Amino acid sequence: MKIEVDQPRLASEIEALGSISDAEAPAVTRIVFSPTDLKARAWLKARCEDAGLAVRQDPIGNTFARWIGSDPAAPAVGTGSHIDAIPNAGKYDGVVGVLGGLEAIRALQRSGFSPTHSIELLVFTAEEPTRFGIGCLGSRMLSGTLSPEAARKLKDCAEASLDDVRKRAGMRGDLEAVALPTNYYKAFVELHIEQGPLLESQRIPLGVVASIAAPASLRISIEGAGGHAGGVLMPDRRDSLCAAAELILAIEDAARTSGAVDTVATVGICEVFPGAVNSIPSRVRLSADVRDTDLKRRDEVMRQIERASQSISAKRQISIQSELVNADAPADCASEVVDAISASCQKHNLTFLPMVSRAYHDSLFMSRIAPTGMLFIPCHSGYSHRPDEYASPEDIARGTLVLAETLAALSR
Ligand SMILES: [Zn+2]
Repeated sequence: MKIEVDQPRLASEIEALGSISDAEAPAVTRIVFSPTDLKARAWLKARCEDAGLAVRQDPIGNTFARWIGSDPAAPAVGTGSHIDAIPNAGKYDGVVGVLGGLEAIRALQRSGFSPTHSIELLVFTAEEPTRFGIGCLGSRMLSGTLSPEAARKLKDCAEASLDDVRKRAGMRGDLEAVALPTNYYKAFVELHIEQGPLLESQRIPLGVVASIAAPASLRISIEGAGGHAGGVLMPDRRDSLCAAAELILAIEDAARTSGAVDTVATVGICEVFPGAVNSIPSRVRLSADVRDTDLKRRDEVMRQIERASQSISAKRQISIQSELVNADAPADCASEVVDAISASCQKHNLTFLPMVSRAYHDSLFMSRIAPTGMLFIPCHSGYSHRPDEYASPEDIARGTLVLAETLAALSR
């Protein structure tokens, strides 16, 4: 069996999908269930049908395109990613895994391979949180991580409910039908651009992901006492920004001293009230994002942040309240899938780097219901979520070849 990826066709399909956008090229904006997203879905469906795949859509709009194997009742081998894009994004995030997945299937068909297990391309709805404020909407629901009741409460920024928006976009059926039965997939593999600089800087063509980090995020509200910057003397102050400054450094310290480079913590938002040059800050709002590949270690960092909050609060007589916004558990990739990807790289004499996925992906949620792995390809300077995001046609084709080989191995 000789697998040959049609690199020019794949590159031209990536360009074509990139042109279905609400932003001017090279930027891509494709928000879930917008007319542009629906146009992209129709374009993709036609391509899947051209390849002889059986296409279905679930009630939240996850799209499944199946190459039926010789044992149709056996669990399928899945691959795929997402085609939604945040405002002013690039052409490759998600799309490489979808169109690369489709081309991997077509390359296997051309090679004469006949799978025992069906091979299925899965296009997830709303990996990006742009519209409903929650990332990986489709895969959270497929894996049962997000319940239909919780999903029905989601609204977009125009206050339209998810249920109304998806029905208006033509998605039929009850959300209860989205979660996949156990054993639906024998394995799941996602091809994705790295969104980081390591592969490019080390000149290694492929990354095989061993674990996927996951974030926990906090909204922190700090209340002190305001006053005139001249009138209130230092012993009498309860300055909320000074307390916030201590807390931000404590959060940094908690991650730095966790004992592992995989622990990261970021305070990305700091809003100061009233925000006047001659007024003592009375109130501060912070956000904190803590990520790790190890749940116990991440939770220990969260506890350390809580202890720091309490001691700063007591020392400065300032109220510090934190609210846990979300806390997804990180995941390890399944050894049988990691081994299959690694063996496929070796078969084609391609070196690879074992990696941690520091961004999270639909695969994080797929790993809850199926043995899951991820394959990364380099992207220019690690840029992603910006118009100059770039992966070369050669790197994309290499990733697609290894993906095809892996799907073949898993579906025999
Ligand atoms: Zn992505």
